[in-house]
Amino acid sequence: MTSSARLTPMLRHYLELKAEHRDAFLLYRMGDFYELFFEDAEQAAPILEITLTARHRGTDKETPMCGVPHHALEVYLGKLIRAGFKVAICDQVEEASAAKGLVKRAVTRVVTPGTLSDPELLDREEENYLASVVWNGDCGGGAFLDISTGTFFLRRWGRPEDTVEDLSLFRPSEVLYRDRELPEPILRWLEREGVCLTEDAERYATDSRHAGELLREQLGTASLKGFGLETDEPAVLAAAAAISYARDTQQSDLSHVRELRLRDRAEALLLDSTTVTNLEIFRSLGTGGRKGTLAWVLDQTVSPAGGRLLRDWLRRPLCDTAKIATRHLAVAELLERTNRRSRIRERLSGIGDPERILSRAVLGTVTPREVATLRDGLLEVPAVLAELGEARAPLLREMAAVDPAVGLATELERTLEATPPASVKEGGVIRSGVDAELDRFRSLAQDSKRHILAMEKAERDRTGIGSLKVRYNKVFGYYIEVTKANQDLVPEDYIRKQTLVNAERYITPALKELEEQILAAEEGQLALEEEHFRRLRASIVAAGPLLTPLAKALAELDVVACFAEVAAKNGYSRPRITAAGGPIVLKDSRHPVVERMGEEPFVPNDAELDPDESQIVVLTGPNMGGKSTYLRQVALIVLMAQAGSFVPASSASIGVVDRIFTRVGASDDLSRGESTFMVEMIETAKILRQSTAHSLVILDEVGRGTATFDGLSLAWAIVEHLHEHPRAKTLFATHYHELTELSALLPRVVNRTVAVKEWEDRIVFLRRVIPGSSNKSYGLHVARLAGVPVEVIDRAAEILTNLEEQEYDLSGKPRLAKGGTVPAPGPDQLNLFAPVEEVVASVLRDLDLERLSPLAALNLLQSLKSRLDVK
Ligand code: ATP
Repeated sequence: MTSSARLTPMLRHYLELKAEHRDAFLLYRMGDFYELFFEDAEQAAPILEITLTARHRGTDKETPMCGVPHHALEVYLGKLIRAGFKVAICDQVEEASAAKGLVKRAVTRVVTPGTLSDPELLDREEENYLASVVWNGDCGGGAFLDISTGTFFLRRWGRPEDTVEDLSLFRPSEVLYRDRELPEPILRWLEREGVCLTEDAERYATDSRHAGELLREQLGTASLKGFGLETDEPAVLAAAAAISYARDTQQSDLSHVRELRLRDRAEALLLDSTTVTNLEIFRSLGTGGRKGTLAWVLDQTVSPAGGRLLRDWLRRPLCDTAKIATRHLAVAELLERTNRRSRIRERLSGIGDPERILSRAVLGTVTPREVATLRDGLLEVPAVLAELGEARAPLLREMAAVDPAVGLATELERTLEATPPASVKEGGVIRSGVDAELDRFRSLAQDSKRHILAMEKAERDRTGIGSLKVRYNKVFGYYIEVTKANQDLVPEDYIRKQTLVNAERYITPALKELEEQILAAEEGQLALEEEHFRRLRASIVAAGPLLTPLAKALAELDVVACFAEVAAKNGYSRPRITAAGGPIVLKDSRHPVVERMGEEPFVPNDAELDPDESQIVVLTGPNMGGKSTYLRQVALIVLMAQAGSFVPASSASIGVVDRIFTRVGASDDLSRGESTFMVEMIETAKILRQSTAHSLVILDEVGRGTATFDGLSLAWAIVEHLHEHPRAKTLFATHYHELTELSALLPRVVNRTVAVKEWEDRIVFLRRVIPGSSNKSYGLHVARLAGVPVEVIDRAAEILTNLEEQEYDLSGKPRLAKGGTVPAPGPDQLNLFAPVEEVVASVLRDLDLERLSPLAALNLLQSLKSRLDVK
């Protein structure tokens, strides 16, 4: 490290600030640039795609540095934040001209991924959470705070895995934590995910007394009991840490964060990250994008807050039958009222994003243009609410009763210009007629400009210089410019200010006097505009307690209207919701995404999972037959129904589900040090341990990642366990045709198959799920479709015939080749379902005694005897 004695005062100051912001990039304002030095410069230059330079700055070595122009700060800030870093911005806090010695600088803002409010850096349809996690012995608690919307909620955790599930579900952009106290699985997750981490050892960690006080003050309440919280629980400590960290980075009291909710995990249908991924709710497995996901099909919302709420509903579908029915009733009414729905949606599309604008008003960063969108949005509100005037559905009636914040709308309309500029500094933000003093300054400024023009004309007349111009620049203010050719006409009272190649610039006392008047008027105008804008901002902040519920109601209306719109467009029907654990019965159900993306017309199918009769469905059928699609469509329909949406089926009756588990496909997680089969078994173990009689389990192949008999045995035992213990409703797709025998042994297991038609040597996929089982997978057929070379297919067909004809070799193993022998199997590879006696009998039956030599007969006898002995 550089010895500080050799550093310039400026670099010494830089290092002092850097020591306070070790985990952030420090952008240090110098003139028109923000500069980064030392390791910060080396690390940031490639991210910012700028050149790293090096200069001697009073050190014995060169100082690596790089810089970005101040006017492009937001662009570069975005690059660093999106890469998951924090940034501390150090500004000049006094005018350079006023400074004695080094200009005074200070960190004015710390921007971190979890505390963003800038629309340029945020996704309009995603919440942006800061998560704060605290574990205390064997219980944990967390707070999730989105300062851009004021959303703030808590979770309680009994197991570290719950924390990991919640972090994966809500995907915070930043996690605040106290290192030593966190259990291993959480630390591992944090390390792996690459989320921005803020380790909070001393600064924001408080004891329970301070945490309680801080939260009570933030929420404006006398006690936390009303929120169902105890002051000494981890969730409260986590919440206090989140608030004090956010206040500190924002230098704001965050007055819009007034509501805190304890979101009980049991309140919602739990979806773990595997299920969210496998069901492609938000991200497509193939592309990682939005297209081809459930959210893509369902998101017909017209406002940003509606888009965010829709995602929240999909992330946390309801479990309470009454609440679900409330949403369905509202959707039904808007589905029926087509014209009303389209009028509401039309108006909602102009509503903007009041939640986020309120937060920016609180943080002091709101722009006049954003306030104008808030005003325009608020002006639409009475008409939207009027549309709900005759509504019958309770949810719609509740929305209609929300306060439309008319007072604020009127004030904004009266005060703010129709289309104000982006910055107050540009002026022209406040309407004329609002303030007489402001109007006076304005007309003075405008008049003076007229005077300038008049003066220009008068000077032309007086001097006879037709090309004489009165101009303005920042350095000299107003001046008179005369070309070189006309120099001899310049009168004596002109005072020379500057010489250019082709012209001279002058001032006169009269011009300077006029200039002072203009500048004073402009300054006065700007100061008053700024003051009025500050007042408007304060009015928005003061209206926060009205704006928050209003924004929430409008977002809900948007989602409910969106569900109605999607139901109308896609032909969905209203599901009947019954008590938890009841049967799931679907008629003519479709996969919501495949029906919109698939190349062939979608074939609807029925599904029935009855806890007493058909708790477990074993689904067999050809490769490519449609098994996976069917499994997922049942899960998605349940999820949609509990989120409040209508569903793609002609009728649906759904007993509420507490969790959906999925075990789908094969995925390695080598980075985690887990093989394909290990991942498969970890997921299966979780299902067997955590599912209940109210859960829905989707198993799309289990045991494929290991030897056939190992896999089959496991699959068999898993079905037995699910049948007896959790008694979870299960759809199990498999190519282990042997599993279909379970239906004869276990009363609540039924077989279903995907129908195909064989035609000449081809098969036709009918896509119909019917009762029964299939003993063929048509894997060779699909391999041929996929372009596997014909020699390989022919050879596979030969082997398959031998296997199917149960042609055994001397050791009882199916022959893989005509005439060839294969090594005898080890005892652990005996066919589970072919008893040894049968094997021996079959070998004897097929024996051609005529062609058997005495020696061969003896060998055979010995081999058969040893098989029986092994048994
Ligand atoms: P595998 O056993 O090889 O995994 P699978 O039986 O699970 O196959 P899917 O992947 O579900 O088969 O379906 C194969 C293709 O068939 C899908 O890509 C889908 O486009 C189409 N498909 C599935 N079900 C239907 C249906 N009901 N109607 C129309 N097309 C369907």
